[in-house]
Amino acid sequence: MTTLITGATGHLGRLAIDALLARGVDPTTIVGSGRSVEKAADLAARGVRIVAADYTDAGSLDEALAGVDRLVLVSSSEVGQRAAQHRAVIDAAVRAGVQHLIYTSVLDAESSPLILAPEHKATEEAIRASGIAFTILRNGWYTENYAATIAQAVATGSVLTSAGEGRVSSALRSEYAEAIAAVLTGEGHDGRTYELSGDTAWSFAELADAIAEVAGMPVELITVNPDEHAAALTAAGLDAGTAGFLVALDGDIRAGLLDATSGDLARLIGRPTMPLVDALRTIHAV
Ligand code: NDP
Repeated sequence: MTTLITGATGHLGRLAIDALLARGVDPTTIVGSGRSVEKAADLAARGVRIVAADYTDAGSLDEALAGVDRLVLVSSSEVGQRAAQHRAVIDAAVRAGVQHLIYTSVLDAESSPLILAPEHKATEEAIRASGIAFTILRNGWYTENYAATIAQAVATGSVLTSAGEGRVSSALRSEYAEAIAAVLTGEGHDGRTYELSGDTAWSFAELADAIAEVAGMPVELITVNPDEHAAALTAAGLDAGTAGFLVALDGDIRAGLLDATSGDLARLIGRPTMPLVDALRTIHAV
């Protein structure tokens, strides 16, 4: 049984392969793909086959998927182009006769108004229409998304947000990666859709307190409205598009779109997810 994991040159795909190897899966049954294959040289050194495959190059996808039984499609990082890129991968999987496809989606992809949801929804629909057996892993937010917030808090003594009272049920990438490995090494996941997140949804006030604990310094929470947030981000050097995107994400959090706590992730990995303070410690080595 050969399993191909896309995005193996990125963070999540690499961690999923690590998790498979940690579970004793034979490295010669694992294929990792990406464009910058040199980034996965260490995985190749551990016996994993690393292949170059670009979502925009159907020929490279056909070559990568030859002889592959199971495909983990880690969503592309090229926001705006993802629906077409993912469809190209699904089409290639159909051509290759892949038996099971696992996709990393987003929480509540079918109905979420989250600005990132439509590409995931379109991909889920394409997977369902493909006829391939599937498992959908709808990932919540990565706690690592707040690495820059930690760094900024350490530099300035404050956390700035326009998310108001909104909460985030984040989990570490390694926990989402372990869920991928759990599905690949377990039974009964065909046709299932899991809503993966941390067990506890935290507020930005709790995030500021957790950073203070980890960094060993006082951290103040500064709550602003979206216009003030955009102005602060552009004043800090971000371009208008990036600032607008970040403000929109805080708006989505304020609207409660990233606070679901279904418990699916803990059930899949067989233990509670890591509490926020401990998770921040893994990101911010002090
Ligand atoms: P990374 O940016 O670390 O990795 C993205 C991977 O996608 C890389 O391996 C990259 O390959 C690959 N990729 C991008 N474009 C193409 C392409 N055209 N053809 C082939 N491969 C491509 O992201 P993470 O591992 O951290 O996260 C995985 C995915 O999760 C992201 O891509 C994104 O969809 C989503 N995400 C989720 C977040 C969350 O909080 N839940 C936050 C951020 C992203 P290469 O480097 O070789 O080009």
